[in-house]
Amino acid sequence: MLITKYLSFSSLQLALLTLIFCVALAASVNASAADKHPVAIAIHGGAGTIRRELMSPEIEAEYRAILSKAILSGHKVLTAGGSSRDAIIATITLMEDSPLFNAGHGAVFNHEGNIELDASIMEGRTLNAGAVAAITQIKSPIKLANAVLDHSPHVMLVGAGAEIFAQQQGFKLVANDSFKTERRRLQFERIINQEQSTAELPETSNPLLLKYQFDEKKLGTVGAVAIDQNGDIAAGTSTGGMTNKRFGRVGDAPIIGAGTYADNESCGISATGHGEYFIRAAVAHDICARMAYKGISLQQAQDEVVQGKLVKMEASGGVIGVDKDANVAFSFNSLGMYRASINQHGDLLVQIFKQD
Ligand code: ASP
Repeated sequence: MLITKYLSFSSLQLALLTLIFCVALAASVNASAADKHPVAIAIHGGAGTIRRELMSPEIEAEYRAILSKAILSGHKVLTAGGSSRDAIIATITLMEDSPLFNAGHGAVFNHEGNIELDASIMEGRTLNAGAVAAITQIKSPIKLANAVLDHSPHVMLVGAGAEIFAQQQGFKLVANDSFKTERRRLQFERIINQEQSTAELPETSNPLLLKYQFDEKKLGTVGAVAIDQNGDIAAGTSTGGMTNKRFGRVGDAPIIGAGTYADNESCGISATGHGEYFIRAAVAHDICARMAYKGISLQQAQDEVVQGKLVKMEASGGVIGVDKDANVAFSFNSLGMYRASINQHGDLLVQIFKQD
């Protein structure tokens, strides 16, 4: 009697346990499918006076092709379940290697005729960040910024110290000349010559200068922002800075909160434009903070800063961003911004001009 009672209790228990197990299993299967956060990615390749009438269809096609390739490479990482950090590194590395952009190979010359590179990366889940500035011998500054994030107790390393750290981390030093391109050298020489005279920039007949005359402002900083399947946001920016900048000048790109910011609670931002103003306006952080404090959309927050605050300061440039719900937005107050995105619905956008 007692044994039967015990047995029947035990089988009831077993049945209950089985039921609980099945419900839990179903819930966890559902949860893991639902837990996959929608992914999105946005990139830029610099903002400024991009004059449509001076850009040949061939050059335009080249820019659109590299922007497409870069955004697709980052998106592939995200859809395969990779992290937002890996996605933006894949994208930015590709753009650093392209001579079309002012980052890595093809970066602009400083006043001494050398290349000094800045980059930063930030992770929105932990608010960890890594940055490098005024480096001259590292092929991929964004990868070095990422190594600072992972392997250094510091947020930013500059110049010689950054390059010693790089070697300790297994990075190879490359010749500064390997970043230099003829196009950037000619642009630089024109600016230097003008600096020494009061006259206007003379008309040019150099075919290479003519080919790139749509870009008198020497654009091409690159940046990327992404959100992955875990809902983690990452943002990164890489640049050669501004043509003819003085030795040791550091722009906004490697300054966390100015050129780059990411916070899972609001958004990720990468900026491009006249760095001195972007530092003073704390552009990237301000946009995320406005979203968080005012409860406004990413687009509204970007517009308040880029079309409002920066315009009042007479600062030209733009930003890209992705928010915590995988919305993508751009804002720029210049004639154009090289940009591309793939939103949470998988829609691809590749644009250069304001009216694209
Ligand atoms: N923001 C960069 C700098 O000031 C330049 C740019 O984005 O064009 O270094």
